[in-house]
Amino acid sequence: MTAIATPDTSGPGGPYAEVIGDPIAQSKSPLIHGTWLADLGIAASYRACHVRPDELADYIARRRDDPDWRGCNVTIPHKIQVLDHVADPGGVRASIGAANTIARDATGALFATNTDAGGFFAPIADAGLAGKPVVVIGAGGAARAVLFALAQMGVGPVTVLNRNVLKASMLLAAFGLKGKALPLGSPLPPAALLVNASALGMAGQEPLDIDLAPLPADAIVYDLVYSPLVTDLIAQAEDRGLATVDGLEMLVGQAALAFELFFGAPPPEGDDEALRARLTI
Ligand code: NAP
Repeated sequence: MTAIATPDTSGPGGPYAEVIGDPIAQSKSPLIHGTWLADLGIAASYRACHVRPDELADYIARRRDDPDWRGCNVTIPHKIQVLDHVADPGGVRASIGAANTIARDATGALFATNTDAGGFFAPIADAGLAGKPVVVIGAGGAARAVLFALAQMGVGPVTVLNRNVLKASMLLAAFGLKGKALPLGSPLPPAALLVNASALGMAGQEPLDIDLAPLPADAIVYDLVYSPLVTDLIAQAEDRGLATVDGLEMLVGQAALAFELFFGAPPPEGDDEALRARLTI
C-alpha cells in the first residue's frame, strides 16, 4: 500500500482519515476533506492511500490498531470486499450492496456505511418527489445508491433504462420499487425527476443519446457524472429551462456525511462555491 501524500505506511502523526482504492491518484476526496479541515482549523489530515486488493486485509488490520486513524473512504475495487473486514450494523451489504466509508463507532470499533445515498438525496430533499414518477438511467453501483434513496423517499413509479435490462428489473425488485425496466434508448416517459446514474456522458465514455422533450417544464434533471461538470445532458436540460443538479453536488454531499463521521463536525457552511471552483480546475 502506498500513501500518496506521505510515502510511508504509518500514519502522518495526529488524527487522520484516508481514501483507499486501486487506482487512487484521481480521487477528489483529499481536496474536498483537506479544504474543510483547513477552513475549520481542525488539526487533522486526509490523504489518498493506494491499496491493492491483496493488501486490503492487512491495511484494515493495521489501521484498526492505529488510534489516530479515524476511518477511510472506499472506492473501486474495494467497495464490496471491505465489508468482509468490518461490522455492517446498517446492513449496507444487503441493501445498497457496497460500502463507501469506514469509520469508528463510540467504542472505537470499525463499521461500514454508504454515504452515496444520502449525498444523492440532499440536493433534492425539498423537491416534493413523493408519489411522483422518476426515470433512472443505469443499473450499476451508483444506481443502487440512487434507487435505495428513491425507495426511502417514496417516489412513484420508477422507470430504469439500462443496456442490461435484466439487471435493471432485478434492481427494481430488490428495492421494492414499482415501475418498469426498459432498454436504453427507449423514449422517456414523462417524469418529475430524471437521473443519469450510468457512465454515459462521462469523459472517455460514450455519449448519452437522449431526447428530453417528454419531460414536463417542472422536471428536475440530475446527472451523477461530474467529469465533465456540464455534461451534454445538463446542457440540454438547461437549454429547455429545466432545473438541474450536477454530479459535484452528490460528490460533495457524500463527502460531507463522511467528514462528520471522521472528524465529529459538519463541514463549514457557505463555502460550496469556492470548493466547487477548486474541484473544477
Ligand atoms: P458501474 O457500476 O460500472 O455502472 C455503470 C453503468 O453504466 C451501468 O448501468 C452500465 O450498463 C452503464 N454503461 C457503462 N458503459 C456503457 C455503454 N457503453 N453503453 C451503455 N451503458 C453503459 O459504475 P457506477 O459506479 O455505477 O458509476 C456510474 C457513474 O456515476 C460514473 O460516471 C461515476 O463517475 C458516477 N458516480 C458519481 C458519483 C457522485 O458522487 N457524483 C458517485 C458514484 C458514481 P450495464 O449495466 O448494462 O453494464
